[in-house]
Amino acid sequence: LNSRLAEFGTTIFAEMSALAARTGAINLGQGFPDVDGPESVREAAVRALRDGRGNQYPPGPGVPELREAIAAHQSRCYGSLGLTFDPDTEILVTAGATEAVAAALLGLVEPGDEVIALEPYYDSYAASIALAGGTRVPVTLRPRGGAADQHFHLDLDELRDAVTDRTRLILLNTPHNPTGTVLTRDELAAVAELCVERDLLAVTDEVYEHLVYEGEHLPLASFPGMRERTVTISSAGKTFSFTGWKVGWAMAPPELLKAVRAAKQYLTYVASGPFQYAVAEALALPDTYYAALRDDLRAKRDLLADGLRGAGLEVFTPSGTYFITADIRPLGETDGTRFCLALPERCGVVAVPTQVFYDHEAEGAPFIRFAFCKRTAVLEDALTRLKSLS
Ligand code: PMP
Ligand code: GLN
Repeated sequence: LNSRLAEFGTTIFAEMSALAARTGAINLGQGFPDVDGPESVREAAVRALRDGRGNQYPPGPGVPELREAIAAHQSRCYGSLGLTFDPDTEILVTAGATEAVAAALLGLVEPGDEVIALEPYYDSYAASIALAGGTRVPVTLRPRGGAADQHFHLDLDELRDAVTDRTRLILLNTPHNPTGTVLTRDELAAVAELCVERDLLAVTDEVYEHLVYEGEHLPLASFPGMRERTVTISSAGKTFSFTGWKVGWAMAPPELLKAVRAAKQYLTYVASGPFQYAVAEALALPDTYYAALRDDLRAKRDLLADGLRGAGLEVFTPSGTYFITADIRPLGETDGTRFCLALPERCGVVAVPTQVFYDHEAEGAPFIRFAFCKRTAVLEDALTRLKSLS
């Protein structure tokens, strides 16, 4: 293993899912739904396969039907904010958001450039920054607020202080995995001002754009001066509950998108064909689909948050995503990694230690993450088991 990747090892998601399989514990670790997405969308994939659409290499930028559907979805959701994209020159289909992030960094970062990322950060960011030869500069989100409204908060002064003459871009993620924080209009406006003032690019990972329970999701690219300097990334995995399909996309002005595509074409060349046609149909689902997904997950969030509090943990109720971060210190524990490794034996549940998403490991030590994109009965079963903790 080369020196760029040596520090990363196996991803925590594979590790914790293997632990769940080995022990038979309920897996609230890796974030994937235990119910597949809509039947009509699965049928669309079957039809594409049968009709021979996408069974051979699709066009490099993605099939036109999907790029048009992404553009239409973008106009439907954010057109009122003035944020639309041209399907021919400003949209690139990728093998999930993961590839979009990697290709954006590989295409835009010079060796030695600094990349600012909010910590705790999704684990592929660190590896992608390293593969691009960049240096990651974490800005730590920290718990703030009263007992009823504890959430992880971005310190804008710290963000400003993190920018140097070598900063190339800010890699943002909102709604934020693993904390569930949804950046507010004021916070995003401040990030945007900073990018404009210091002439930085932004890469923004918005895969949880539809999973927002309080407040609203605002794309960073919709803020003044940002459209021309932002790569916006999303994916079908979370929105349609098809994490295995790995269909994602990047949207950016033509010059920036060319750089992302230049890298993407040598990573995978193209993303899987038939699923692109199915995701095109999914994106056209009526607003009621998106509202039902959100309402279902909101109820599950509330169930799990209440239950975890009942089990003695301190809970940061997420405004978005399908993850809950909890603090184990009220249980007399301080090391989330040790706690999560022991949890399957102790009560038959798997969670993820969020420490692995930090450079400043001590900051993340007492936090663990639970996924609530599971059937209600599964969450209830997990909560019954977790009761034995306190
Ligand atoms: N970004 C974030 C913040 C995520 O949580 C995930 C996990 N789904 C991804 C990107 C990866 O998305 P995909 O499966 O589309 O590659
Ligand atoms: N995004 C999901 C999570 O955060 C799964 C990621 C993965 O398995 N790579 O848990």
